[in-house]
Amino acid sequence: MENRKIKIGFYALTSCYGCQLQFAMMDEILQLIDKAKIECWYMLSRDSSEEREVDIAFIEGSVSTKEEIELVKKIREKAKIVVAVGSCAVHGGVQSWGKEKELEQLWKTVYGDGKVKFEPKMAEPVEKFIKVDYKLYGCPPEKKDFLYALGTFLVGSWPEDIDYPVCVECRLRGNSCILIEKGEPCLGPVTVAGCDARCPAYGVACIGCRGAVGYDVAWFDSLAREFKKKGFTKEEILDRMRIFNAHNPKLEEMVNKIFEEGE
Ligand code: SF4
Ligand code: SF4
Ligand code: SF4
Repeated sequence: MENRKIKIGFYALTSCYGCQLQFAMMDEILQLIDKAKIECWYMLSRDSSEEREVDIAFIEGSVSTKEEIELVKKIREKAKIVVAVGSCAVHGGVQSWGKEKELEQLWKTVYGDGKVKFEPKMAEPVEKFIKVDYKLYGCPPEKKDFLYALGTFLVGSWPEDIDYPVCVECRLRGNSCILIEKGEPCLGPVTVAGCDARCPAYGVACIGCRGAVGYDVAWFDSLAREFKKKGFTKEEILDRMRIFNAHNPKLEEMVNKIFEEGE
């Protein structure tokens, strides 16, 4: 590892700024900053620029304007490692929920006749436009995930990914299963772990804020079948699964197929 400070950038696309606020408020960031040079992080430093080269680029938010497509391409060109931060950047976020509607219709509902300076588009994940090297899941991600990833990069290593669902942590915590025992539509079986099953631990069904473990896993089919058995309609299942996974390309086809099957 070179004996120099690692250059980092934190960039915001369309988002609530909750991810970077979460990390900017951490006491530990003050210790890490000693080992890193912030080239761009407007929330932390006025001396920020998107034009500078960085070792690690953290990107928050979904790509929701034509200008943001150009911005993520520029960030990619100037960064050695790109990390998508949070559900907006990784999966398109809740703003992708209305994906099946026309952009014009969504626009009219939210802004009416209001004029804006940017050219809007449907919200999409960063990976749709550039290569993403690592993902921090969650809305927002856990502080420990950010510290782990940044700390690991700073010592010249690579953080591990999480490839198992919330249910694993839920059972390890000894929670009773909300899906089985109360028949509530918990998305824990298809959602990336790492939150220590926070919601089920309080008796609330997971809405999948950490995003899908993978769109290609069979667990989506199994869970949709289970929801159907519990009496949920096709629309209710689709709405639930779309909250943080609207870009799952097979979702509609899969749920339709389940409702075409006999009992
Ligand atoms: S992932 Fe959640 S907390 Fe982060 S910017 Fe998006 S909406 Fe905000
Ligand atoms: S409550 Fe949800 S997360 Fe917990 S085991 Fe049941 S389905 Fe999985
Ligand atoms: S249980 Fe589900 S909704 Fe709750 S924090 Fe974890 S991933 Fe997000």
